[in-house]
Amino acid sequence: MAQDVVVVGGGPAGLAFARSLAGSGLAVTVVERQPLAALQDPTCDGREIALTHRSVTTLTALGAWAHLDPEDIAPLREARVLNGSSRFALSFDTGATGEDRLGQLVPNHRIRRALFLATRDQPGLDLIAGVDVGSVTSSAAGRVVTLADGRVLRPRLLVAADSRFSAVREQLGIAAEVNRLGRSMLVCRVAHDGDHGGSATEWFEHGHTIAMLPLNGTLSSAVLTLPAEEAERIAALDPVALGAEITRRYDARLGAMRVVEGPRLYPLATTYARHFVATGAALIGDAAVGMHPVTAHGFNLGLQGQATLAALVNKAAARGCDIATPLLLRRYEAAHRLASRPIYAATNLLVGLYTDERPAARLARHATLRAGARLPMVRDAVSRLLMQP
Ligand SMILES: Cc1cc2nc3c(=O)[nH]c(=O)nc-3n(C[C@H](O)[C@H](O)[C@H](O)COP(=O)(O)OP(=O)(O)OC[C@H]3O[C@@H](n4cnc5c(N)ncnc54)[C@H](O)[C@@H]3O)c2cc1C
Repeated sequence: MAQDVVVVGGGPAGLAFARSLAGSGLAVTVVERQPLAALQDPTCDGREIALTHRSVTTLTALGAWAHLDPEDIAPLREARVLNGSSRFALSFDTGATGEDRLGQLVPNHRIRRALFLATRDQPGLDLIAGVDVGSVTSSAAGRVVTLADGRVLRPRLLVAADSRFSAVREQLGIAAEVNRLGRSMLVCRVAHDGDHGGSATEWFEHGHTIAMLPLNGTLSSAVLTLPAEEAERIAALDPVALGAEITRRYDARLGAMRVVEGPRLYPLATTYARHFVATGAALIGDAAVGMHPVTAHGFNLGLQGQATLAALVNKAAARGCDIATPLLLRRYEAAHRLASRPIYAATNLLVGLYTDERPAARLARHATLRAGARLPMVRDAVSRLLMQP
């Protein structure tokens, strides 16, 4: 079968994009290195994704939201930021918006499964699982995608959704800003006796950052950001010792904590591609923008970006026009850069401010939080960002 579109990577961004092309009449192929069984029933990876209202709307429109188990959806009612030993907290809530929550927390592996189920029987969609994309080339003469098993695909449009260390991006000759932070995120699920009240806490302590994300019942997702070596040392603790370590680091605010899932380690690196497009090709998801997880925007932005590109491609296909013109691709790039660059820059600024341990930086953090509290417009802007309709 001739392909109109080949998507490299069947992660959440790649599958969402393929699903967004449903009904376009285009022949779409997704190539994913993981085997089919891993896509049908992905294993837990410890990531709890904070979804904005806008993302929930998108996932609903894609038919994925209906595939989530209500048990897996936890309301995020409030977010609080704390600095060091100060008891002062900057809070974000829904204010006068009439909403009962800032967003929803859903495990990443459940989102992946829901997107897989939404795309499973999509007419015109071919999923090649368990096969690596070996190499790609793209020029005015056409796109050539060579799979590790020797198959060759020649799509009109090539879309890279192959993670923040995208090999396709590199092979297309697109450079990227890559910041390896030398720190890792340790994530695990913990059970506790205290009630989190649906409130997420981000606590910038000296030497580490600890976030506690509220899950259903008396469960939370503990997210510790530490220098890479220390994170490895803590991840090697037995579950009882790890629970005690997290309880201590969280100042026993929710009582004693027991580890019920994990831990998993994520070495931190942020990436931003210099271009999101090349001749007949586009980058989406983390391949375009690899955010620091602290502001929980990576997948939300990826979902927004794929929707932008899909809308342009669907429109061109409906008119019987070329789906990969330079103008179409440039429009995608401009829109997604506008949506992502400010959030990417602000997040990196925040990370810099909160990982600097010098006394002046600590004071600056404190002053920023206080200023944020005094400026309702700052709080409102952040809340609105979280709650994008
Ligand atoms: C700890 C943590 C917490 C996070 N929390 C949030 C949050 O709260 N909110 C939020 O919005 N985001 C969050 N994120 C970010 C979010 O997880 C990512 O943005 C999202 O998973 C990126 O999806 P993707 O499809 O672009 O890439 P990936 O999930 O990396 O998927 C890429 C896919 O491509 C496949 N692939 C790669 N190379 C090839 C190849 N050569 N051939 C075939 N297949 C290939 C891979 O197997 C993989 O399935 C978090 C991330 C982390 C690490």
